[in-house]
Amino acid sequence: AGTEPNGTPDVLEPGGGARPGTPLLTVRGLHKSFGDNSVLRGIDLDVRRGSVTALIGPSGSGKTTLLRSLNGLSIPDAGRITAAPSAHPSGDPGTKTEGGDAPLTLDFSRKTTKRQRFALRDRSAMVFQQHNLFPHRTVLQNVIEGPVQVQRVARADAVERATELLERVGLGEKRDAYPHELSGGQQQRVGIVRALALRPELLLFDEPTSALDPELVGEVLTVMKELADEGWTMVVVTHELQFARAVADEVLFLDGGHVVERGAPRQLFREPREERTRQFLHRLL
Ligand code: ADP
Repeated sequence: AGTEPNGTPDVLEPGGGARPGTPLLTVRGLHKSFGDNSVLRGIDLDVRRGSVTALIGPSGSGKTTLLRSLNGLSIPDAGRITAAPSAHPSGDPGTKTEGGDAPLTLDFSRKTTKRQRFALRDRSAMVFQQHNLFPHRTVLQNVIEGPVQVQRVARADAVERATELLERVGLGEKRDAYPHELSGGQQQRVGIVRALALRPELLLFDEPTSALDPELVGEVLTVMKELADEGWTMVVVTHELQFARAVADEVLFLDGGHVVERGAPRQLFREPREERTRQFLHRLL
C-alpha cells in the first residue's frame, strides 16, 4: 500500500504512505504573547502520523493561536517545532521547498527564517471557520487555485484530482457552481477539499463548523470523520465535544495558555483529573 506501480508514493493516500504512528510534528515549550497578553505559556504537543488531536477549551485559551503556530501563520516568541522529514519524495510538486530529506526544526527562541516558516507551512493545510472561497470563481477553480498557482501542478492533473476529491465528499455535481449557489455546509466541504487538494501531510481545522447553522454541522463532521478513518493526520480546534469524543485519539484541554490536561477522550471526558477540565466539560456536556 502507498506505492503505485511506477514506484512513486500514492499521493491520494494520507501522508504519502508514511508509517502511521510515527512522529510528524513535535512541539516543545511554545510561548506567544500579543503585547501584555500571554496567550501560549509553554505548550508541548506531539502529533503522530494518522492521529486526530482535538484542542478544546474556553474561548481565548489559545487554541487557535496554537493551531496557527503549527503552520507558520502565527510566529511564537519561544519554543521549538520539529517536523519529521517529508513523506513526499523530493521534487514532489507539493513539497518542492526544503524539508524533504531532513527533519525541519524551527527554534523560535532564535530567529527563524521565512524559508523555514514556508517549509513548515507547506506540510499542512488549514480549514478555516469561514471557508474563504473566492466568490467569483467556481468550485473547481477554487480547489485548483493552490495546486496550480502555488505548487505549479499541471492544470490537467489538478483538475483530475480536484474532481476526484469533490466526488468523494459528494460534491461532484457542484464542480462548476459558484460558492453562493451552495449551502454553508457544502461550502465548508469545498473548503475541506481545497485543503486536501494541496496534498498536505497534516490537516488543521479551526472550528470548521462554528459558523454553520446547526442543521448543516453534521455533514461537515461526517466528512471529517471519514478523513480520520482514512488515516489523515488532523489537528482540530473544536467546540463539538461529541465529535472530539468520538473521533480524536488525543484531546488537549487548554485554559489560559496552558495545556491543563491531555489524554484519550475516554479518559478525559469520563474521568477528568483536573477540576478546571471538569468544570469546562460540565458546562458543555
Ligand atoms: P481561542 O482559539 O482558544 O479562542 P485564541 O488563540 O484565538 O484563543 O486567542 C487567545 C488570545 O489571544 C485572546 O485573548 C485573543 O484576543 C488574543 N489574540 C489572538 N490573536 C491575536 C492577534 N492577532 N492580536 C492580538 N491578540 C490576539
